[in-house]
Amino acid sequence: GLTVLGSVNLDLLVQVAELPKAGETVTGGTYSALPGGKGANVAVAARRLGAETEIVAAVGDDDYAAQALVNLKADGVYLDAVKTVDAHTGLAFITVSADGENQIAVASGANAAFTPEHLPKLCSDVLITQFEIPIAVIEAALKDYAGFVAVNASPVTPNVDRILARADLVIVNQGEADAYRLSGREGLLAITLGGSGAELWRDGELVARAPAPKVNVVDTTGAGDAFAAALTVALAEGQAEQEALEFACAAGALTTTRLGTQTASPTRVEVDALLKT
Ligand code: ADP
Repeated sequence: GLTVLGSVNLDLLVQVAELPKAGETVTGGTYSALPGGKGANVAVAARRLGAETEIVAAVGDDDYAAQALVNLKADGVYLDAVKTVDAHTGLAFITVSADGENQIAVASGANAAFTPEHLPKLCSDVLITQFEIPIAVIEAALKDYAGFVAVNASPVTPNVDRILARADLVIVNQGEADAYRLSGREGLLAITLGGSGAELWRDGELVARAPAPKVNVVDTTGAGDAFAAALTVALAEGQAEQEALEFACAAGALTTTRLGTQTASPTRVEVDALLKT
């Protein structure tokens, strides 16, 4: 099975005609609450692609927690290792204008209050993580972990050299690839290139390149999380590097064809169908 170690957030979204400027109030907005957080996004994506998936995460003792976990629950992600901690559930306050510009302020809450003491014993054979929880928690989890480790090194975070060195697979977008010094790293490195697809490097050598399937793009949020989940699942299944990269690009591309993040994540059947066209 797959362990996802990461964040759970509730995204509180307001759609307005125009973004407020500093000190301004804009009224007439439309509200929605959407489950988010990179950890939760990746867990939903992996589960929909068929992987038996557990999430190791922290939420608050509040009404936001159940809302934040609703898709994980519906898709059948194991939630036994979701700990309730003394903080509020992670919240992202997102304002989106009619022309698609956004402002986002995150109150990390439980994700920041997550400590190594909250970790269960990890006995899966594959683990994937990202940098929306404290680095100390990731280091503690990896200390005794014997399985395959994938790290989506996002957002860009200092002092993660030891984590990146332990990772069997590092996944970054172009901005992140420029921010870390990864070229020539031992092991696997995937670099996503948005509408241009992705590359896979092994021990500093390019071993696979895949284009992004041509799709009708509606909303690119969540594409990187779906790609990371799909590549990790495919490699864990034993797919060849080229095949796994194409599988991940198809999952990323399909996510861009629908609004939202977790609900936009494709099923295995959809990815297989796109790969056959
Ligand atoms: P991030 O969202 O993390 O910045 P990217 O923008 O590189 O990551 O996108 C991740 C993956 O999602 C890409 O490698 C590609 O497979 C898919 N993707 C992103 N944008 C598009 C697009 N415009 N058309 C098709 N696929 C896309």
